Amino acid sequence: MEKDIEQILYSAEAIQERVVELGQTITADFKDKNPLLIGVLKGSFVFMADLVRALDMPCQLEFMGVSSYGNKSETTGAVKITRDLECDIEGRHVIVIEDILDSGLTLSYLMKYLQNRRPASIEICTLLDKPERRQVEVHPRYKGFAIPDAFVVGYGLDFAESYRNLPYIGVLKPSVYA
Ligand code: 5GP
Repeated sequence: MEKDIEQILYSAEAIQERVVELGQTITADFKDKNPLLIGVLKGSFVFMADLVRALDMPCQLEFMGVSSYGNKSETTGAVKITRDLECDIEGRHVIVIEDILDSGLTLSYLMKYLQNRRPASIEICTLLDKPERRQVEVHPRYKGFAIPDAFVVGYGLDFAESYRNLPYIGVLKPSVYA
């Protein structure tokens, strides 16, 4: 797998340090609110696992599955829910956990979908953000790292379902997907 990586952007240690900081901030903001964390599968599974262990308060977890219609370059913003919530979120303080925010279309759709279910509050925590690529406004309250416009893999993020198990976040060589 390493031979397909052009550059390591964040080492396992750097990610861990940032995740602990995020955990402390979220704990300070939500400590009496018993928040419900909703992880967006599959990309957020590693981040979610580390983040919840950095939270020093009661919380619950849920997962949702989403997929975009069409391929990446011609996404319409329509998102298909492939795995729905198994609990009622009405009145709950919800934090949506995402791996990467790119055009913003996925999270913008998901936020509307979840808001219709009347949570008490809803915030976004994304590990990575590519602000240059944004097509619709999305405002994550918590953000791990802002990154340049490059295709990254590792720490849960895939290309064609591979590379999710790399412990670091790296830029994939364009020759792999060209
Ligand atoms: P958006 O709807 O914001 O354009 O897309 C968000 C989704 O696109 C992410 O959850 C992720 O699945 C995928 N994505 C966007 N950029 C990257 C990237 O650099 N690497 C990987 N592996 N997935 C990405």
